[in-house]
Amino acid sequence: MDHDEDTDGEEEEGDDDSDDGGGSSGGGMKLAACSIAFDVGYFADTDECDGLSHFLEHMVFMGSEKYPGENFFGEWLNEHWGSDNASTDSENTIFYFECNPKNLREALEIFSGFFVNPLVKLDSVDREVTAVESEFERVVNNDTVRAELLLSSLAAKGHPYTKFGWGNRASLTQSPPYKEGRMRDVLLEHWRRHYHAKRMSIALVGAEDLDELESWIVEIFGDMRDDGDEVIDLNIAHSSPYANAVPIRVLTAQVKDGQHVSITHELPAWTQKNYKHKSATYMETLIGHEGHGSLFAELKRRGWASDLRSGVGAGGIDSSTAGALFGTTIKLTDDGLTHVDDVIGLFFAYVNMLRAKGPQEWFWNEIKQLADIDFRFREPEDASEYSERLVADIRKYAPEDILRGADLFETYKPEEIREIIDLMTPQKAIIVVQNHAWNGEGENVEHERWINFPYKKEALDSALLETWANADAGERLHYPSPNPYIASDFRLRSPASEHKDALFSPTIVHDCKVSRIWHRLDDRFNQPRSCMYFQVSLPHVPEGAFGMMLIQLFVAMVEDCVNESVYYPAHLAGMEVDIGASASYSGFVLSLEGLSDKLGEVALSYFKTMTSLKIDADRFEKRKEERLRDVHNLCLNPARHAKRALEVLLKQKDATQEDKANALQEMTAADLQAFADGIWQHAHVESLMIGNLTKDEACDVGERIRACLPGAPIPDNSWPETRIARVPQGAHLFSIKAINADETNNVVLYYFQLGESTWRGRAFIILMQSLMHEKLFDQLRTKETLGYSVSCSFDSTHEILGYRVSVESAFHPPHFVSSRMAAFLRSFPEILDNMDDASYEKTRQSVVDDILADDVNLREEAIRHWAHLVNQKYQFHRGRHVAQIISEISKREAADWCREFIQPFAPGSRHVSVHI
Ligand SMILES: [Zn+2]
Repeated sequence: MDHDEDTDGEEEEGDDDSDDGGGSSGGGMKLAACSIAFDVGYFADTDECDGLSHFLEHMVFMGSEKYPGENFFGEWLNEHWGSDNASTDSENTIFYFECNPKNLREALEIFSGFFVNPLVKLDSVDREVTAVESEFERVVNNDTVRAELLLSSLAAKGHPYTKFGWGNRASLTQSPPYKEGRMRDVLLEHWRRHYHAKRMSIALVGAEDLDELESWIVEIFGDMRDDGDEVIDLNIAHSSPYANAVPIRVLTAQVKDGQHVSITHELPAWTQKNYKHKSATYMETLIGHEGHGSLFAELKRRGWASDLRSGVGAGGIDSSTAGALFGTTIKLTDDGLTHVDDVIGLFFAYVNMLRAKGPQEWFWNEIKQLADIDFRFREPEDASEYSERLVADIRKYAPEDILRGADLFETYKPEEIREIIDLMTPQKAIIVVQNHAWNGEGENVEHERWINFPYKKEALDSALLETWANADAGERLHYPSPNPYIASDFRLRSPASEHKDALFSPTIVHDCKVSRIWHRLDDRFNQPRSCMYFQVSLPHVPEGAFGMMLIQLFVAMVEDCVNESVYYPAHLAGMEVDIGASASYSGFVLSLEGLSDKLGEVALSYFKTMTSLKIDADRFEKRKEERLRDVHNLCLNPARHAKRALEVLLKQKDATQEDKANALQEMTAADLQAFADGIWQHAHVESLMIGNLTKDEACDVGERIRACLPGAPIPDNSWPETRIARVPQGAHLFSIKAINADETNNVVLYYFQLGESTWRGRAFIILMQSLMHEKLFDQLRTKETLGYSVSCSFDSTHEILGYRVSVESAFHPPHFVSSRMAAFLRSFPEILDNMDDASYEKTRQSVVDDILADDVNLREEAIRHWAHLVNQKYQFHRGRHVAQIISEISKREAADWCREFIQPFAPGSRHVSVHI
């Protein structure tokens, strides 16, 4: 579990201009990391205790015989530039950490204790039950999690799909082992059966050579037991979970405003085992396609859908040794809901088209070509991400394929593709309609076991099944055309020389009244990639919520226009393009990343569309409907609600969700057309182009973009401004009701405003965040069990510095949480005074090292420079200065600073608290 991010793809509004605080120009080190996986997960939970595997994952992290301290590893990592985490999936459990590469061996020694001799202490049981409960509470209102639990409850009795992997207080404390006082024994038994060397994989990423790394593993894990149960292949142990249930249609409620339909088919286990054929991937690419002739393009043309996701998910019940679930989830417009049977019909019409046309080798080859290019030029990733990904793949692929199993297209197997197409019939479908407006009333309504949300099975009559089976949309649905954005020029523009310059930054290669171009030819990563960022400033954006929503809808209409012919094929060809309102709503930010070859062409297409946009009234209404939903849904999550509430308080150019919704209601297609025609009178484009492109190539792209701009330069007195409110001295409390009446989580957010950004101010805040983080977590989450999510962070809004502390709690009212947070913050200066010097210095050093760390890839470097361009301070080497200041801050100065600024309700501090 622990993979709890909301994945519904809903947009955050506006960009925050806070950066990571540091930023460096190289010379530092990269992290080392280790991941360990056991191939056991919640499918192996015993019948008497749901959530047992997830619970054990928590409990093994609570100290070992050699290092019994409950938080020993966490504190050690904090001093060594590290962090750790773990997750439990259906068939594996992964533990990982990252740390300073110099200390990798020591970290491994401590880490190994959790698996060789864990304590699984009885006195941690109740606290970790609370941790599991609050982890679950955080997702009970997540529609994606609900959809998965619904599919679980439809599976055949006794099948592993019916297991409740999250676990919660009820499943754990009402289990016989807990009630009978055998919990520790049951956990140890689970550990003994499944956590042993034969089912363990390790991925270690360090700076040492392979032989040395290998010898460490042998020494450190030499004592690992290898007796215990063998792993079970569920495909052999169980028959199909849904054979007796399909065809079926289920109606259920959803938390978010809006509605979805999903069509799911069970695929046999071989589709996962035969990974070299990628037959399921072939189908995913087609059904999820968004270009001309695709299912999605046609649904959109008819005004029925605003989003479509298709394919086999990773882990959970989506893919395992038992088989796979191929799901297509369509986000419906109101009109789409009325036509839901036709929407499903169109899905089957597309499948029927694929069946009639038969598998196409050229298309399989095109996906292969893209996967090959992607693998060949993949950017370096964080050591922790890399080790986590690898460790999960060790058991999935043959040893020679571990590094590239996910990208390997070895043999085209049309008969496999045909078999999958033949499985995707209405007769074998599980159809789920999630509708926010359904009140859960009526006959035959059932309730899901763990969250208790309502659902209702509905009969599918044979006439309808027959209609779907024969559905045909004629010429409208067809195979995509060959992708025009596949890169073919991979030559490196920089001579293959070593990068020596420690201080480097982009330079201005063009500067006129309407455009400034910053450029840097990459000489560090040596890949044929580039990043291009454009900040478009427009002085004619109206003030207030109406202006903000005009920009948002303008962006949505641009995206709508380019989706089929530019965005989607470019996306498949490995380019990521994003466009959004700028942080101050005075223009746009367009960003493009990917292989350099055709990146400039794509940028140009966007500018052409933006400067000549014609608003189609029907499509406008659909985008407006979507946007209204997003505005309503954005603050359903209480943590985001708190963050937004604070922004509205602080930012001069911001508006509440209500004001935005009202502005949207009023807006017409004619308003937006007038806006689109008027904004370009005066414009300025500041851009950053870095990577594998020469100065001339960058100037050429800039020149062609300039040719699209119809207007004149921005007059000197009309440049957009950004301002934020100054918090008056003292404490200010804002208590706000959660939007969702069923919301069980409370959030308390503290914000201390510290004034204009200076190097010194940044230095103290960044250091404070590291000094406080582990202690805050240990006190408020582990010891007081206030809630699962506890954090403190650096904040920079329009270059005004702040410090935030927030706690999300499912069990305590906000005023209580707030009083505990205040007590902690008051005691913190003293905690610092009493911290031992060595520990203080190690933490401080790890902050310095972190700031000076090398960029992992071109994108990181580009984002770092970009932050200094957007804030118009152009301090490309700020990180170095800040690091220097941090290295000189004494423990006493840190404690005094905290006494002065981070004290809740103290008269001198500028403190805002938001309770949701
Ligand atoms: Zn967990």
